[in-house]
Formats: sequence, C-alpha cells, structure tokens
Amino acid sequence: MTLPTESVSLETLQRFDRPGPRYTSYPTAVEFHDGVGEGEYRAMLAEVDRLADTPLSLYVHIPFCEHRCHFCACHVIATPHAEVAARYLDYLKREISEVASQLPNRREVVQLHWGGGTPTYLTPAQIEGLTAHIRSHFTLLEGAELAIEVDPRVTTCEHLDTLGSLGFNRLSLGVQDFSVSVQEAIGRGQTFEETAELVRHAREIGFHDGINFDLVYGLPRQRTETFDDALDRVLELAPDRLAVYSFAFVPWVKSNQRRLETEEFPEPASKLELYLTALGRLLGAGYVAIGMDHFAVPDDELAVAARQGRLERNFMGYTVKPVSTMIGFGVSAIGDLVDGYFQNCKKLSTYYEALDAGRLPVERGCLLDDDDRLRRHVIMQLMCNFRVEKKAVDDLFGIDFNRYFRSSIPRLAELEDEGFVMNGDAAVEVVGDGRLFVRNAAMAFDRYLEAKAETKSAFSRTV
Ligand code: SF4
Repeated sequence: MTLPTESVSLETLQRFDRPGPRYTSYPTAVEFHDGVGEGEYRAMLAEVDRLADTPLSLYVHIPFCEHRCHFCACHVIATPHAEVAARYLDYLKREISEVASQLPNRREVVQLHWGGGTPTYLTPAQIEGLTAHIRSHFTLLEGAELAIEVDPRVTTCEHLDTLGSLGFNRLSLGVQDFSVSVQEAIGRGQTFEETAELVRHAREIGFHDGINFDLVYGLPRQRTETFDDALDRVLELAPDRLAVYSFAFVPWVKSNQRRLETEEFPEPASKLELYLTALGRLLGAGYVAIGMDHFAVPDDELAVAARQGRLERNFMGYTVKPVSTMIGFGVSAIGDLVDGYFQNCKKLSTYYEALDAGRLPVERGCLLDDDDRLRRHVIMQLMCNFRVEKKAVDDLFGIDFNRYFRSSIPRLAELEDEGFVMNGDAAVEVVGDGRLFVRNAAMAFDRYLEAKAETKSAFSRTV
C-alpha cells in the first residue's frame, strides 16, 4: 500500500484525531471485569485443549526495569535489586507448568513473545533457564517467531548471543527519539551509538530481518526538525519494521508521567506534524504502511501478508501467524482464548499469593457473547485487511449485514464523505488515505463505544 501522504492535510488529521481503541482485542481491556476469574479461565483452557486447531501463541511478561522512564505507560516494577527476578522466575515457571498441565493436547507454539518491563533485565543464564522451562512444556515449531523486547541501555552483546543461540529471531528495540533533549525530558538517556552497536551485533550474529524499532511522537520537547534528524539516524540503522506510536499522556493512571513538564509538550497541531513527518520519511524510504502505525520493508513477511490479506491482530499488534489462542504468563499478562480474555493480577504480591495457594493468578477478564464475536470479526477484518465482505459475514454468523449493523453504518458517513470508506453492496472497505484512519472506521462497529461515550478518554488518540 502506498499512501499519497501529501494529500493528507493537517486539518484532516485534526478532524479525525479522537480518543479510540487500538483494537488489539475486542471487546477492549476497558471492558474487562472481576466477574471473570480462575474458574472461567480453567474452563476455557479445557475448551482450548479440546479444540486443538491452530498452534498457540505465548506471551511472557517480565515486569522489571532498573529505572522507570517518565513517559512509560507499561506495567513496570522499577528496581535496581536484580535479585527480585530470581523469585519472580520461580513463580512464573510454576504458572507455566500449571497452565501446560491443563493443555495435554495443545502444546505446539508458533509464536513466543517476551515483553515488559525489560525482559533483558534478566541475566543471560536466567533467559536460558526460562526458555528451557518453556521448551520443556511446549514445542516451539520450526519457523516459529521468537520475539523479545530489548532495551539497548541494558542489553549486552552476551544477551544477544544467548538469545540467538536459543532461537530468538526478532528483537524489538525501544527507541522513541534520538534527540538528547527529548531523552532528558522523558528520563531515558539512550545514545545513538549504543543502539547502533546493538543493531550491528544483532545483524552480525544472524538477526538479519528481525529488527523492530518503536518510535513515539508527541513527547515533551519533540520538534519537527529534531524528529526529522532522529529519523535520519533511524533510517541509517534500517530496521525491518517500525511502530510509530502516539504518546498517551495519562498522568491520572500513570503517576510517573507527572514528572513530565506539560508546557514542553508539542501543541496538538505540532504533534500531528511530527506524525506526518515520520509517515513521509518512512514511506519515502520505501517502507510499507501497515494500519496507521506500523511500517515494514516491502519484502518483510508482515508487508507480504498485508498485501495478501492474511494479517492477524492480537495483543502484540499485527502478526502473520494464524493463531486462535494466545496465552499470557506473568504478572498483568493478558491471554486471548477463543471466547474470552483473561488478565493476571497486576500486583506482584497477589500474583505470588495466588500461585502459593495453588490457584492460577487470573483476576479479571471478559467472556464474549454472540454479538461480541461478530463485531470482533468485523473490526479485525477492517484493522487487518481494511475490508469486510458482507456476504462472508452473513454466511459465517447467519445474519443480514446491513440490517444487523443499521445503527453502525451511518457512523461511517463522515469517513465516506471524505472518500476514506466505501460502503458498497458487497463490502465495507477502507480505501486510500482512509487507511490512516482505520481505527475510526472500526469504532463505528464498537457496541461499547456506542453505549458509553463518556469512557472514550480511556483510550489514546486515533492519530
Ligand atoms: S519505557 Fe521501557 S525501559 Fe522505560 S520504564 Fe517503560 S518498560 Fe521500562
């Protein structure tokens, strides 16, 4: 997909920039509640085991970081006391063993992702031990994606050598921005040189097409000129994929963000200019846009899958792996199991208590009803393939699309007027530059947004 970005005006971006979910799930995490817990989770694991269709996706959460960056919105435990990790790993392994025991017929894995926090807070030996434990319970299939988030400030060449030898094939590096002034403002000093050195070593030992960068726009002191310079340096390192996220300022949820100087934030129009700068530079450099915030080199499997309409979406974002079940391990981790989402305890002490008592540490979630399943399908089709075929939906769910969505379709009118969405007899399709606003199109089909407009501020902005 090529976007003629010069035709997306700032005014248009401003008009469609509104709070909205990223739809890594539907219903979104805002709808999770404590009426769903361990009992429902065990029942769903039994169902997953019985279905035994596609291989599994596993997510492992390592919550620790040495320091907390001021801008961070992740679930993080900041501590320089590295010994905390040993205890955590002990409990994490117990959780993995217990969940695996519920899945005697379902052990094949096609995707493993370690996120955080900082997974490389662990020592190479701890990483080896945890990987061995996972492999003792699950079979990582040939060609599986083994991905890990790495912080260039704490990740050593020895870490990379260990990860390479264990079969990891994708590294996600948090970069945000290379400007020293911005890094000072967000409390994260990360030099270009240390990032470049890590990328160089990773490529040398075999991570040839598995380097992802995360950039963030909308941070304090970010200005178009300096961001443009940072993008020069990003392009010099030539990552295979990039995610370019809008900074979500939620100091009422994340108290560490109160350390940011609000008067240093770019104005809303400047923030959107930052986004347009990134978009123009990345497309100009030959990257392919996937959704509104992901980019990949044209022969990357994500870009190929996007062209072929095979993209999938889960809590890790876009993926090419056909996975119906993702199991989350670790404090605050979320699992996506067929007909329900399940989230583990966010507090470490509660996570430990549950496992000590022989319980699986799920504390909230959401079970899908028929309407959720239908809308999830429609929303994910739009988010991944920008098109939803009405007849296919009718056949799959036994409905009449136009009748069922008679209150949703009028909400596409603004996008249709702009030429961003076509609502034809056969399909609803997001076209051309409208792909930048795919979240807005998906929101038209979200029953929960319709029901409680007042909760919209729980989400980041769509642009
Ligand atoms: S941004 Fe990354 S390194 Fe910084 S606190 Fe958050 S998870 Fe840790």
